[in-house]
Parts: sequence; structure tokens; C-alpha cells
Amino acid sequence: MSRAGRWVRRWYGAWRASRLGTRLAFGLGAVSLVVFAIVGALTVELMHDYLNRRLDEQLKTSQVTQVPHLRESKDNPEVVYSWYSAVFEVRQGVAVPQPGSTLPADVRPLAKVAEEATRGDVFRTVYLHDQGSYRVRACPVDAGTVLLSAAPQADLDSTVQQLVLIEVVAFLVALAILVIAGRLVLRRGLRPLSDMAGTAHDIASHDLTGTANLPVRASGTGGGAEVEELRTAFNLMLSHIESSLAARTAANDRLRRFVADASHELRTPLTSIRGYADLFRYAAANEPEEREAHLEKIRAETARMSVLVDDLLLLARLDANDAEPPVRPQRMDLTEIAVAAADAFRAGRPGHPLTLEIPDDPVMLHADPVRLRQVLDNLLANAAVHTPAGTRVDVTVAVADGMAVTRVTDGGPGISPEAQERIFDRFYRVDDSRTRAGGGTGLGLAVVHSLVLEHGGTVAVESEPGRTTFTVWLPLSA
Ligand code: ADP
Repeated sequence: MSRAGRWVRRWYGAWRASRLGTRLAFGLGAVSLVVFAIVGALTVELMHDYLNRRLDEQLKTSQVTQVPHLRESKDNPEVVYSWYSAVFEVRQGVAVPQPGSTLPADVRPLAKVAEEATRGDVFRTVYLHDQGSYRVRACPVDAGTVLLSAAPQADLDSTVQQLVLIEVVAFLVALAILVIAGRLVLRRGLRPLSDMAGTAHDIASHDLTGTANLPVRASGTGGGAEVEELRTAFNLMLSHIESSLAARTAANDRLRRFVADASHELRTPLTSIRGYADLFRYAAANEPEEREAHLEKIRAETARMSVLVDDLLLLARLDANDAEPPVRPQRMDLTEIAVAAADAFRAGRPGHPLTLEIPDDPVMLHADPVRLRQVLDNLLANAAVHTPAGTRVDVTVAVADGMAVTRVTDGGPGISPEAQERIFDRFYRVDDSRTRAGGGTGLGLAVVHSLVLEHGGTVAVESEPGRTTFTVWLPLSA
């Protein structure tokens, strides 16, 4: 590549890498340069024209005052300033200067103008050898006589040259001031944007993998409406990112805890099954009559495990928003479900007297009857399992504020306020009922919560010693 090519490339590279403020300032300078050039050329042209016209007028005035005088007296022409003044006799188209004329050594160019002037006034610009340009006016005095005046244009040219010089200097100074001041002003104006870029760099240098915090924000004020708008949008975007990060971190934590709890829960029945299997093998050889009992234990643990796995699967599917959701809503009557659940409870838990209160009219919902039955069964099972035998259980179904309200109340020992806050968490148990006979999995209320949410409803607990009520609100079918 040639030297010039390399130079152009280097400058182009530097230009591309330069800051926006610098670029804008130089752009402004380039535009100003064009404007200055146009303005300069116009003023010079106008000035030149004006001076020429003035010279023409001076020539004309001088000749107009001389002509009558010359006609009468045939006197010598008047010498004005440093002009040439001459009277020519034009005979057969040839001009001959008359005595008393002031003329340069080479008369020919002027004589030619005089020859033209016999028919009328003539203005010409003539170049005289060694003397430069002259503005020449010739006019007929009378037949065959012509008055000619030639004024040097050197003064005019030097005036115009001075103007050009002054303009070039003034424009260059203005250009320099414009570029330097413009660069400063633009840099100042663009500082808020640089600050925002700094904030973005700051964020980029943070490792956001394990954190939910994004403490940096674009600070500062002012910079104009657009900058203000950009700053607000930028900070809003950071808030969104922060909340998404927090949500992601929370979801990850929940998932990690869920997986750990699920493994832990599954390990307990598996350990029991292995233990009972060993006992079964021993009993098969030594105490045949014990075999059935061990087999029954294995069956019970397996049943417990399959309930756990079913619940886990259901929760996972509810979380995942699958293409095939675990809830298949249809138009259904909630009172029918309540009656069926109450009947099953009475048959299965004769130790707990149950009362059911339902409205006379059906309570129509758009919901999955199987899943709502599961909700009621879980609440009723808790009312039986976590209360002493003989505790009363009341179920009521009602309609209020466009919602179906189902309450399951028991007269058991109640749940402490701290436990109430966590009761719908997965694997949460008030006392570790895993160790108790028939202890649950800690997923019953989590399943209730997720299913009710999936149906667009809410669930809450109110409890004091002697009275615990779970209330489920579900939207009525339109
Ligand atoms: P579990 O399988 O242990 O029943 P749940 O999620 O259904 O799991 O319930 C969580 C915990 O809430 C239970 O371990 C129990 O201690 C408490 N609980 C639930 N319902 C009642 C109730 N009606 N009365 C007292 N405690 C309750």
C-alpha cells in the first residue's frame, strides 16, 4: 500500500475510534467550513462587483462633465487621479491620439476601444502590458472624435485581496473557536451518556451467576429530556433484570431444596423396605408365621412411597406449565364433590364426627372435579390425622362475592402462628410427623395450595387452640 493509502487508513481508524463529541464537533466544523466558503465567495464577488460599478460610475461622471467642455474648446482632456485620458481622432476606422493626451507607451489596446466608441459609449476591461488591468470607458465627443479614460484596477484588486485575507483569517479563527468550544460543549452534554456507559461496564464486570443483587444504577440528573428518558428506561431495565435475577435465584434455591427434601423423603421408606425385606428373608427361613406381617409392612411403605411420588409428580407438572396440564377443568357442581368427600371421610374415619353444610342450589365452577376432590380429601385427612380421636370436623360450602367459599374446620389443638406462615411450604411439618406412626409426607397442603392456585383461587389458614379453619376461595363459573 502507498504512503498516502496508509495515512488515509490511519486517519480513518482514528476517526472511527474517536469519541462522539469529537466527531460531532469536527462534523460541525466541516459544515461551517462549507458555509464560510460560500459566504466568503459571495461577499468577495459582491464587493468586486460593487467596486467595479463604482469605478465605472466615476469614469462616466468624469467623462460626462468633460464632453461639453471638449466640444466647445477642443481643449486637452482632464487628467483625473492616475488615469489615462486621451482624445482620439477616428478616421476610416483608425483611432489616432491627439496631442495633450496622457497615454501609455503601447497605445494599441486603448486605440482599439476608441475605434469602437464612434457609434456610442463603450466600457471595457483591458490588459496593458506591464501595468495590469485597466477599466476603460470611451465615448464620442462629436463626429470622429472620441474621449477615452482608463482607470487602473490594481487598487480595486488589492482591496478585494485584503477582503479575502481578512475573511480567511476571521473564518479560520471562527472555525477553530467553533470546533474547540463545540467539542467542550458537546462533551459536557454527552457526559450523562458516558456515565451510563460506565454503569453498563460496571454491571458487565460483575459476576451475576449466583447473585440476585444488581446494586448499580445510572445516577445524576439533567442532560435534556432525551437523556432523562434514556436514564429512566435504563434504570427501569436494571430493576427488571434485578427482579428477574431475584426470581431466578429464588426458583433455583427452591428447586435445590425441593430435590434435597424429595431425596430425603424417598430414602426413609426405601430404607424401611430394605429392612423389612431382610426380615422377610430371615422369617422365611426361621419364623414362617412372621412373613405376612413383614410383607404387609413392605406393602404399606410402598403405598406411602407411591403417594409421595404421585404428589411430587403432580407438583412438578403444576410448576412446569406443561403442554398437557394435570388439571382438566369442566363445568361441575362443588356441592356434589363436598358430599362425596364427606361420605368417604365418614366411612374411613369413624372416630371423627363430621358435619356438612351446603347451600340448596348447586355451586357451579369451571374446575377439575378430581383435583378439587383431592384438595378436600387432603384437608379432611389433615383434620383427622393431626387431631386427637373424637375431634369434630365441620365442612361448609357457601357463595360470597362471586366466589365459592369452602371451609374445613376442626376442633383440634391448632397450629402456632409461626407454623401457619410456613404450612403450605413443600415438606413442611409442624413437628416432624415422619417419625410418628402414619406420619404424612409434608406435601398435602403444598398440593392443596398449588391446585387451588391453578384453579385461579386462594387458600388460607386461621388457627387457634381448639379451632383450625382452612378456607378455599374458588371463582364461580361464568
Ligand atoms: P402432612 O403430610 O404432614 O399432613 P401437610 O402439608 O398436609 O403434610 O401438613 C403440614 C403440617 O401442617 C402437618 O405436618 C401438620 O403438622 C400441620 N397441619 C396440617 N393440618 C393441620 C390441622 N388441621 N391441625 C393441626 N395441624 C395441621
